[in-house]
Amino acid sequence: MSFVIDPPPPVAIPVEGGGAFPVRRVYCVGRNYAAHAREMGADPNREPPFFFAKPADALWSAAIVPYPPATQALHHEIELVVALKGGGADLSRDQALAAIYGYAVGIDLTRRDIQDVAKKAGRPWEMAKGFDASGPIGPLHPAAKIGHPAKGAITLAVNGQPRQKGDLADMIWPVPEMLMQLSSLVRLAAGDLIFTGTPEGVGAVAIGDRLDGRIEGVGALSVTIGAKV
Ligand code: MN
Repeated sequence: MSFVIDPPPPVAIPVEGGGAFPVRRVYCVGRNYAAHAREMGADPNREPPFFFAKPADALWSAAIVPYPPATQALHHEIELVVALKGGGADLSRDQALAAIYGYAVGIDLTRRDIQDVAKKAGRPWEMAKGFDASGPIGPLHPAAKIGHPAKGAITLAVNGQPRQKGDLADMIWPVPEMLMQLSSLVRLAAGDLIFTGTPEGVGAVAIGDRLDGRIEGVGALSVTIGAKV
């Protein structure tokens, strides 16, 4: 059977050292650091994590990130991103770890004003979280090279000023447990990415701002917010 329109280009992100990782789905954890949960008005106790998604083609690997339309409050959320080489449903802890290909530094860009309205009205988050270029991401670092980082500083600075600072060890749901939870809701598969939540200190950025994210033991990501397109 032939396509009736040209198929959209496949989504892939670069791998440190060469090659590209093809992306199937992009999931995000809604809250996974206690201090950030508190700053957003949530109770940071260990109730099950909740998840949302971004379209795969919202990932953005270029250095200039266009400022999105329809917001006055574009917020940064620095996050550890996990990439899967395998999957399945109802994964055990060992199966979850074995399914991980590698890790990257990502930013879950958020139109906070749209999210605030959605939260109050009980509406979906897609237009707050899944807009074009809402997922800047650095190169993937294979777990075969860096292991499975479970502690280490996760930070983001804007124009050289520290904004976010946390530690991977402060995750309410560490990566393997988070994958166990997510795989009880959907069948995971090779090509899936998961943004694992952000530490405290989220805030707004403006056109021209430079964002420098770093995760100890993983890598770094630097982007500049560009003009609306
Ligand atoms: Mn987030």
